[in-house]
Amino acid sequence: MPLNEEQKNQMRAEQAQIKNNLKDIKHQILVLSGKGGVGKSSIAVNLAVWLSLQGKKVGLLDVDIHGPSVPKLLHLEGRRLQGSQDKIEPVAYSETLKVMSVGFLIQDENSALIWRGPMKHNVIKQFVSEVAWGELDYLVVDCPPGTGDEPLSIVQLLGPVDGAVVVTTPQQLAITDVKKCITFCKQLSLPILGVIENMSSFVCPHCKQRTDIFGDDGGRQMAQDHDVPFLGSIPIDPAMAPAADAGQPFIGIHNDSPTSQAFSEAFGPLLEL
Ligand code: ADP
Repeated sequence: MPLNEEQKNQMRAEQAQIKNNLKDIKHQILVLSGKGGVGKSSIAVNLAVWLSLQGKKVGLLDVDIHGPSVPKLLHLEGRRLQGSQDKIEPVAYSETLKVMSVGFLIQDENSALIWRGPMKHNVIKQFVSEVAWGELDYLVVDCPPGTGDEPLSIVQLLGPVDGAVVVTTPQQLAITDVKKCITFCKQLSLPILGVIENMSSFVCPHCKQRTDIFGDDGGRQMAQDHDVPFLGSIPIDPAMAPAADAGQPFIGIHNDSPTSQAFSEAFGPLLEL
């Protein structure tokens, strides 16, 4: 249904408010995936931490409404949000990394969020229009998986951004979904900064031999077929899940693991935006 004049004016006012709130952010990167469980949040968190370790001022916005895992991954569960005048303060993970998550709104981590579409849209809108992000080099946005209403809301609300990092795993099932994600970006004129293939192989910690568990190069091939950049393949590391459970970002802690090295190589081009 076409918007009436009043709705159009309201939309313009909202967009102006968002633009004003985000005006001191140099780069905005969305992290998307075709489906859940491929490591999208792990990559968003490690990207944000890696950028902050490179001396950048970073914001990490977790709008994965039904599975906000950023508070857990950074050991920030239970933090309550503080307000100042008409703004909400993000939670400081470190001096250079500020975090906002839907998870901070949930009192009990076991309770599901039962929100209708407009409520989800409104909370996403608040995160971009009312959170006091201040001056940032990068805002990394951990989006909900898939190509439904919620990623659409965030893309529409943010307006022009640098682009999206699309996370997949090498299996055919994930590749089929990530192709939809690429079509989604293209339809919305959202530039694709690159594809990251996660959990592509296993490097034996003893003999250092690499085994391609799910077949090799599905993500690279798919990126080539769709004419989008391929940022890299991230091996499985058995230390990743315990680190996540302990709320420790992998990248600052397991620096000599092939997985950390692969993260750094994949993230490198994002410093050149
Ligand atoms: P998503 O956000 O796509 O749902 P998560 O980031 O929550 O996925 O990751 C799902 C699970 O896979 C988590 O337990 C995470 O620790 C694990 N994981 C992600 N990437 C890797 C990896 N490269 N090696 C080992 N475990 C991983």
